[in-house]
Amino acid sequence: MSRISYVNGRYVPHHEAMVHIEDRGYQFSDGIYEYIAFYNGFLLDGELHMDRLERSLFELQMDMPMSRNAMGIVVEELLERNCKDDGGLYIQITRGVARRDHAFPKHVRPALVMTVCAPKLPKAHDVKNGVKVITHTDIRWGRRDVKSVSLLANILAKQEAAVDGAREAWLLEGKVITEGSASNAYIINKKGEVLTHPATEKILGGITRDVLLGLAVEAGIGVVEAPFTMAQVHGAAEAFLTSTSANVLPVTKVDDTLVGNGKPGAVTQQLQALYAEHIMFQTGKQF
Ligand code: PMP
Repeated sequence: MSRISYVNGRYVPHHEAMVHIEDRGYQFSDGIYEYIAFYNGFLLDGELHMDRLERSLFELQMDMPMSRNAMGIVVEELLERNCKDDGGLYIQITRGVARRDHAFPKHVRPALVMTVCAPKLPKAHDVKNGVKVITHTDIRWGRRDVKSVSLLANILAKQEAAVDGAREAWLLEGKVITEGSASNAYIINKKGEVLTHPATEKILGGITRDVLLGLAVEAGIGVVEAPFTMAQVHGAAEAFLTSTSANVLPVTKVDDTLVGNGKPGAVTQQLQALYAEHIMFQTGKQF
């Protein structure tokens, strides 16, 4: 079955999906995106992702290219045309095509692109045994809460992780771990509490993060939304990361130091189970 993408009002074969070279996303990274997983044809936490998409647009003073309802219809159509049960949906909105000039163009419609891809889930081995992350200086801009297509600092950090054979780079601002290059970062202290950076402008507030913290609190697990340092990582019992493509992934090594006993811990495993139940409940997909 061929891959179909949506580009500014048209459903086109993926290899023919193109935008103009003066699209401001291409020229200036003047745009935002969302990545939403779907299982059995159902978007996982689709409404929460759409809320964040609207918030990102608002922060960049951009309009929705169409109503949220209309966008939902396009998404449904695109998933149907791609004939996929499980996968990922990218929605990308830029300020549109205009003659190159930094200031916002007048009377230009935002550009909307959607693509569907195969699921990006981590290997079963990593889900069970955990992964290594490296640390990297956080050199990003000051509005990381906006899911901007400008990801240069993120990709440089992730590349360093890839070269090192690590799954992710945890970003260090001074002594504090803000988050990963494409995921949120957590430790579990010796009291069994989950610590993660508060959802301020310094991190992208992950949808997986929001949902998981809610599930943790409901299950009676302590949650502390506070910045944590490498010293706290060294004294931690467990660590993990979350994202739409990784779900809940144990972190067993940070740089050259094992976290706790170097194996995924009981709290992380409980959180993995709670999140798997959440996916099951919404989409019927079993992990
Ligand atoms: N932080 C960053 C920098 C990210 O790129 C991502 C993934 N989009 C996340 C956190 C996790 O967000 P989510 O759980 O919504 O995928």
